[in-house]
Amino acid sequence: MKLINLYESIDFIPSYRNKETGYQESPSEEVDGECSLCDGDGKDYNDETQPCRQCEGKCKYNSRKYTVPTLNVSNDNGYLILQMLGLHSRDEDNSIGTIPNKDLPEIRRKLIMLKNKDNERNSFTRDGSDTRSPKTSYVDKSGDVPQIRTQGGGRVIDMGTSDSQINRYIDKLLEIISIAQEKGFDVSWH
Ligand SMILES: [Zn+2]
Repeated sequence: MKLINLYESIDFIPSYRNKETGYQESPSEEVDGECSLCDGDGKDYNDETQPCRQCEGKCKYNSRKYTVPTLNVSNDNGYLILQMLGLHSRDEDNSIGTIPNKDLPEIRRKLIMLKNKDNERNSFTRDGSDTRSPKTSYVDKSGDVPQIRTQGGGRVIDMGTSDSQINRYIDKLLEIISIAQEKGFDVSWH
């Protein structure tokens, strides 16, 4: 069975503007970890007699890890969070953005309001679904004789968003905002 990654994801994270590059960056450190490509066995995934092409057989590979808290959610839930915070825009690309440091007190107030008002929060919960994408038929004329073929019909699972999940997002966002305010940072999502 072919495994398809249906979801891209969005991270919310404290960030600062790098004055040289103009980009938002987040503090990170290099960590010595198990190589992600060979799962630490040091063998190449294509040819087991060869050393892994990422770690060169050392089984360890340095990667960078954020030193500030992050919230990682699916794209769907990322857009839901932006709607909750009043930051979702219909006209713009919402996959990336920054809440400037000066706006954080207002966002914090909004989160605390959502935390305390069940009915405000419940307008953002969604039921999950388990459906099949529609099958489509088309005429394949590539061969000698035209043939009718069908495609699609894969299973699509939407986990939905529960109230406890939204509460968890709110708590994590409050933690992220606290750290950002402490350090004089902004909060980015990407
Ligand atoms: Zn490796």
